[in-house]
Amino acid sequence: MRLVVAIAALCLLVGSLPAAAEEACPGHPDAIGTSRTITVDPATLPQIGTMQYKTSLPLEDHEVVLSFDDGPLPPNTSRILDTLAENCVKANYFLIGEMANAYPALVRRIYNAGHVVGTHSQHHPLTFRTMAEPRIESEVNDGIASVKAALGDPNAVAPFFRIPGLLRASRVENYLASQSIAVWSADEVADDWRHGVTAKEIVRLAIDRIDAKNHRGVLLLHDIHPNTAAALPILLKELKARGYRIVQAVPAGNRPLWVPEPLHLLVAANGIPSHASETAPQDEHTRGTRPSEHHPRHHKHIVRADDDAVDRAVAKKRVKPHTASAGESTFQLWR
Ligand SMILES: [Zn+2]
Repeated sequence: MRLVVAIAALCLLVGSLPAAAEEACPGHPDAIGTSRTITVDPATLPQIGTMQYKTSLPLEDHEVVLSFDDGPLPPNTSRILDTLAENCVKANYFLIGEMANAYPALVRRIYNAGHVVGTHSQHHPLTFRTMAEPRIESEVNDGIASVKAALGDPNAVAPFFRIPGLLRASRVENYLASQSIAVWSADEVADDWRHGVTAKEIVRLAIDRIDAKNHRGVLLLHDIHPNTAAALPILLKELKARGYRIVQAVPAGNRPLWVPEPLHLLVAANGIPSHASETAPQDEHTRGTRPSEHHPRHHKHIVRADDDAVDRAVAKKRVKPHTASAGESTFQLWR
């Protein structure tokens, strides 16, 4: 009888082990993870971010959305993706069209890691306040077209746009609304574009400002800066220690679960002709997990080309480097 009771007690004990916490981020039990997603329909929430608008995401107490602007740019974008993956954090990205043209493999890596990809214009001009409508339209649409081209699937790009330098203007907002695109500002920034800012300062500014804004918000960071990459692991740890949870904003409607690598890159990566399909299965429209988790059948045919090799190949194209200094002076305008 005693043995039966002991076995029953053991079963109860095993059953009550914190398996859920480990499953939340396999191999990283201390990771902050992603607690939930918020679905954003631009028709009902056209403007996001209390730094400039009356409305923001409907976040609960101690909920934070991480957003990254201005990429992709190796190696810092890759470092940040590694940190996010290690912490099972899903973020929101706002990519620049010309950067997407230069580093398309990184754009696909961002998307296939489960992050939401919005856009941030084609050339990141800091003149949106004064630009005429045709230029606004071409900057917005060319940026979207470049990111779409990198992803290879028009439905993969979220209808989310952040104006470079947060230089808002009614003309821009009206155009975005007419295109059913939500315009994103932010609730907090961490000054990570500032020359000489340290990782420690980025973390402190982020935490202080999130705390001060009712313990929640959309945090704007830049994945192109080394100090942001250095700050992110500390920031995630600090947020978790303070009881914060990470939330991701996803667009309403269907998106592809993942996007494949172009056939010519698969061939180059394998060194042999590939029979892999370039087209994502038509019935896969509900996004949420990485392809290897739910679609091993397809995944085994799709080998991601090595990002570094691809980056080296496309580096020859040399885009004009995105300048933090140009952004710095502009950020002074709205800070
Ligand atoms: Zn920017």
